[in-house]
Amino acid sequence: MNAEIIAVGSELLLGQIVNTNARFLSQQLAGLGIDVYFHTVVGDNPDRLKSAIEIAEKRSDVIIFTGGLGPTKDDLTKETIARHLGTDLTMDEAALVSIELFFKRTNRVMTENNRKQALILKGSLVLPNDHGMAPGMVYQGGSHTYMLLPGPPKELEPMFLKYGGPALAGFGGSGEQIVSRVLRFFGIGEAALETDVLDLIEAQSNPTIAPLAGDGEVTLRLTAKHKDVASAQAMLDDVEAKIRARVGEFLYGYNNSSLLEELTKVLKKKKLTVTAAESLTGGLFQQEITSISGASSVFKGGVVCYSNEIKEKVVGVRPETLAAHGAVSEECARELAVNAARIFGADIGISFTGVAGPDELEGKPVGTVYIGISVAGLPVMVEKLSLSGTREANRGRAVKFGCYYLLKYLKESQDAG
Ligand code: ATP
Repeated sequence: MNAEIIAVGSELLLGQIVNTNARFLSQQLAGLGIDVYFHTVVGDNPDRLKSAIEIAEKRSDVIIFTGGLGPTKDDLTKETIARHLGTDLTMDEAALVSIELFFKRTNRVMTENNRKQALILKGSLVLPNDHGMAPGMVYQGGSHTYMLLPGPPKELEPMFLKYGGPALAGFGGSGEQIVSRVLRFFGIGEAALETDVLDLIEAQSNPTIAPLAGDGEVTLRLTAKHKDVASAQAMLDDVEAKIRARVGEFLYGYNNSSLLEELTKVLKKKKLTVTAAESLTGGLFQQEITSISGASSVFKGGVVCYSNEIKEKVVGVRPETLAAHGAVSEECARELAVNAARIFGADIGISFTGVAGPDELEGKPVGTVYIGISVAGLPVMVEKLSLSGTREANRGRAVKFGCYYLLKYLKESQDAG
């Protein structure tokens, strides 16, 4: 059984909102063992919606529509499908009562066009809307299953979880579970990673291995199908072990986790605190670490030392260092990291100094970055980078590299000790 998701809404085509419903539904359908082969987006236009339905019917068993179930004129999903299938729309009394109650509960006046939301495709199974007005529905037409869901994610998601998913399972999935795991890598390019695991990618059909690059990181999505989840997980463990044996040194986390989240976890586990002295990154490291909930146990504060005056006066970088080597230098990065750790009483000091661009600085080219890392009891480490992105990209990437080097340093020192 395979499915297609048709998201209806001109605001999606205009780029005003992102199609998160398709993402949510794809994830859910994978869990039900239903393959999703197509995502379609179509505007609030009956002719174009009709042609999207005709295309979907040629290639998909289950067609799931999101959006266009509202009370206004441009909400035309139901009407278009009914006309296309030659089916009537009928008033669903239970849905109508629920809409009336919704208005009473929220102290609003119900208008005539709200009644339209209680219309359903005749003969369909109604999916109650516990968080809004328009009910969803499932309609079996010939060999196709049509599911209609409301647009707002806060209505669609609970409706699918409670009623839509179970209804589809009843209509007969393959009985197989699809389980995915994303491996996250940093410090290796997409081409290099793919070359290292190419024979595995080519040899595997279950699990499949799919590389994806973005924002300085590379991921491998492993997807296994099996009747039971535990066996699918074991298949993923097996292929992950093979991948680790080749490129494990670059693997830093799983699924949606970020380098900073991984770093925070490791610091918590080791009961270590970190501070930062940031010139190039202007507080980006500190902003990102404080956006992680529970970061207060590993991060107490830090400093943005953009000018040389602040580097000297607040972080205690020696004037001789700045005069002899400049602010964008190994020596300055070292002093910033060591002094910050001392001043803030943290176990670890990390510093970022460099040339974000667009102009060069102190005769050093754009993209030159020094990251200083001072960990109590270990030699101070300074890494130099030569980045080639825009100003914003270079700053973001510097933070990621800082986290990566620190994670690596902590792991290597643990392995050595
Ligand atoms: P309503 O009764 O609120 O009008 P509806 O079923 O008619 O619901 P739409 O009018 O198409 O749905 O969309 C309502 C809102 O739901 C949109 O403004 C948008 O915020 C959200 N929405 C719609 N489609 C999607 C989608 N594919 N992904 C994420 N959000 C969406």
